[in-house]
Amino acid sequence: MKKKNRSLFLAVFLLLCALLLPLEARAADISVFVNGKQVSGDTQPWVNEESRVYVPLRVIAESLGYACSWDQVSGSAFLQKGAETVKLTLGSNYYTVNGKRVKGDSYPVAYRGRVMVPVRSLGEAVQAQVQYDAAKNSVIVWSAADTVIGGGNSGITGGGSSSGGNSAAPPATGGNSGNSGNSTGSKTLAGRTIVLDAGHGKVQPGGWTDPGAVGYYGTPERDIVMDIVYKTAAILQKKGATVILTRAADQTWLTLAGRAAYATKYDADIFISVHCNANENRSYHGTAMYTNAVSYNSYADTKLAQALQKHTVAALGTRDAGLFQGSFGVLRNLPCAGVIAEIGFISNLEEEKKLAKNSFRQKAAEGLAKGIEAYFAAK
Ligand SMILES: [Zn+2]
Repeated sequence: MKKKNRSLFLAVFLLLCALLLPLEARAADISVFVNGKQVSGDTQPWVNEESRVYVPLRVIAESLGYACSWDQVSGSAFLQKGAETVKLTLGSNYYTVNGKRVKGDSYPVAYRGRVMVPVRSLGEAVQAQVQYDAAKNSVIVWSAADTVIGGGNSGITGGGSSSGGNSAAPPATGGNSGNSGNSTGSKTLAGRTIVLDAGHGKVQPGGWTDPGAVGYYGTPERDIVMDIVYKTAAILQKKGATVILTRAADQTWLTLAGRAAYATKYDADIFISVHCNANENRSYHGTAMYTNAVSYNSYADTKLAQALQKHTVAALGTRDAGLFQGSFGVLRNLPCAGVIAEIGFISNLEEEKKLAKNSFRQKAAEGLAKGIEAYFAAK
């Protein structure tokens, strides 16, 4: 993947935007109302796989009276209205409001040269009430000063629970001893079923892409993790495992629950969701594993996370950033051990460069595969 100058990247995206927009399918358009008035920009809101609603920051912020500016170096948008200042950074859950750090619900992403921000996070960052009204398919924004908030709009993030993910059959690779696999076959992996989930997705409802976190040079997490998953699957398959992928490059979107459901459907032994980490502090780097604090398989989760961490860090020579627990939709209700593998920080300039290298992604795949083998060997 070529390193791109961010301004060139944005310029190309803006050009694409101008060229492609009239042709864009607009079936699922979401209306935006600010203080009761409909506003329109050149970028439509979209709903991601977690039913989070993303809205274009600038058009809403300007409608609320903020002046907007953009810093290419930090990947940050700055809003200002009187003495009030807000900073939002691509790929970061943290917002700075009047100098104070606030942890938001999710992070802004770049799309076609526009900063798209989750509705709930926007509400936390600016002095406004921001809601998504699923029934009306509308984002409704009220300045704090005119907080009227119509009754009845219960949910902030819409419940438009599209049941995505069942249209395309997942590519199931390998299995059965067959292909000259005797020399490379592994007793520990033969007969095992492994679900690999490449985080984020190519196509979201309405045709929007979810790139995941995007690095300073414009590398999208979505593509990096897809490649690592393909490479990992190839290794595991050679060793006799059956590998199920929740998505391939151009597959339609999946809900997080839909991804986890593959583990049940295919009676999997383990489930691994592969991601790249991101933080507004670009010095953060290293490899980390995440499991759910509440899980039916806590012991196995931890064992798998430890094995993956040990072997991935060894293969990559990255900093051991540690094991963490949280509450992740993609790991919820798994019938087997489940781990989110954060290979490196795409927000760190050095690690983004590494992740963009084919040889580094191959090593990541080898590390993950070794970790998987070690996990099964210890069972
Ligand atoms: Zn991710």
